[in-house]
Amino acid sequence: MNLTDPSAWAEAEGMLHRSQRILAITHVAPDGDAIGSLLAFTHAMRSLGKTVTPACQDQAHPRFLYLNGVRDIKQSGVGDFDLIVSLDASDLARLGTVFIPAEHARLPLTVFDHHITNTGFGTVNVVEPTCSSTCEIVLKLVQRMGIALTHDIANALLTGVITDTLAFRTSNTTPDTLAAAMELMRSGANLPEVTRQSLVLRNFDSLRLLGAGITQAKLDGRIAYSLLTRKLRKETGVKEDRGDAGLVGTLISTYEADVAAVFVELANGEIEISFRAQPGFDVSQVALELGGGGHPAAAGCTVPGPMRDAVNRVIPRLRQLLRET
Ligand code: 5GP
Ligand code: MN
Repeated sequence: MNLTDPSAWAEAEGMLHRSQRILAITHVAPDGDAIGSLLAFTHAMRSLGKTVTPACQDQAHPRFLYLNGVRDIKQSGVGDFDLIVSLDASDLARLGTVFIPAEHARLPLTVFDHHITNTGFGTVNVVEPTCSSTCEIVLKLVQRMGIALTHDIANALLTGVITDTLAFRTSNTTPDTLAAAMELMRSGANLPEVTRQSLVLRNFDSLRLLGAGITQAKLDGRIAYSLLTRKLRKETGVKEDRGDAGLVGTLISTYEADVAAVFVELANGEIEISFRAQPGFDVSQVALELGGGGHPAAAGCTVPGPMRDAVNRVIPRLRQLLRET
């Protein structure tokens, strides 16, 4: 569903102009688009003289330390604000603990997002599923509001474009995406360096987890899937307690798979699932049904454990999806 009615952009800009103390929040377990859009928005609004507090429940991965301002992201939403802005989140629960209902529910909430599954949880919702990334949407905002595209803003925005398109390789890459990237490079963003830092470089131990995940992957018809248990994570020495080390992207790169899923057992026993689909298949609705969300080709959710129950619930649902597609 495209929730952006023609007046949403103007209303969002009006809300930003009228505000003075903004709490900007991005989603839990932030990826490059989350961190990039949060920092670019923060820099942009500060250049208009606003006080902005960027916040995220979870700390940014060290790979994003090349972005100016990443260390200043707060993990708390406590403070005196007159506007809440949500970036790259498709529902309120994705904002995690930094959204404090008792304090924030009475404030206006502006949503900027590109997920087709967005629930429209804001007072105003700028939701553009045809945009590659929330960063592409924030670039539009910067241009519409006549804000100078500084090096810091450009580098942050290119980070989201690169990570959400896997460096222009995914089906959400459009001519507008390439035009946005060109504009960002012209403003000083360093494409090869952003790509290397945000997408290519990784810890050696994540290779072991990836390797183990590939080795024990299964093919169920045209569903490729793999289970990353806490035990496996411990054996491979991975320090991070979530994430799939890129495994789901590797599984969907095979001719044999139409959809791929990776089940990650979290420290609290819940199971985080990442879905990917080949063009022509849509995993976003399955993720939405399971309490998550995402895009047709890439989606995710977190379900209760144990692992066996999650697999027994989700694999039959994927089989049904393939029968119906
Ligand atoms: P990934 O598999 O890379 O973690 O996520 C793929 C896509 O699905 C991203 O666009 C991400 O925002 C979305 N996604 C992943 N997990 C969740 C979730 O638990 N809830 C929602 N709403 N979206 C998710
Ligand atoms: Mn995104």
